[in-house]
Amino acid sequence: MIMAKICPNCNTKNSNNAEFCQGCGQELENVPQSTRSFPIILIIIIIVAVGVPLYFVWSFVIGPSMNENYLEQNGINGTAEILDAQQTQTFVNNNPEIKMTLLVSVPGKEPYKVTYKTVVPMVDLSKVQPGNKWYVLVDPKDPQNVIFA
Ligand SMILES: [Zn+2]
Repeated sequence: MIMAKICPNCNTKNSNNAEFCQGCGQELENVPQSTRSFPIILIIIIIVAVGVPLYFVWSFVIGPSMNENYLEQNGINGTAEILDAQQTQTFVNNNPEIKMTLLVSVPGKEPYKVTYKTVVPMVDLSKVQPGNKWYVLVDPKDPQNVIFA
């Protein structure tokens, strides 16, 4: 097998130890690296293939359950009236994600608005109608961090 460096500029075949192209003078030092671009694409595909599901697991399963545990222990009890409820384009296990505008009331504070996104089981969809009231737990450090109790 004859090893050769192909010039990326003019396609001249140069000897494998050539530093510059005989045809056009292009520096050839980086040419062998181009053969590595295929594994890099593979690595990117693997990162995307693993990362995207991980992102969904994190944002819809692990993150919310950690937040739920935290609020169950530290949250302030309050009530929330649903002012607006809209389905987003996201579904988790065929259950739609609902984006709600809530009017949250906690003791010692003026009622305030919170945008709340949560995945609602199909059977509970009728419960998230505007006008309905829910008990909520509110993060004492972040009034926008609210979950249904
Ligand atoms: Zn060349």
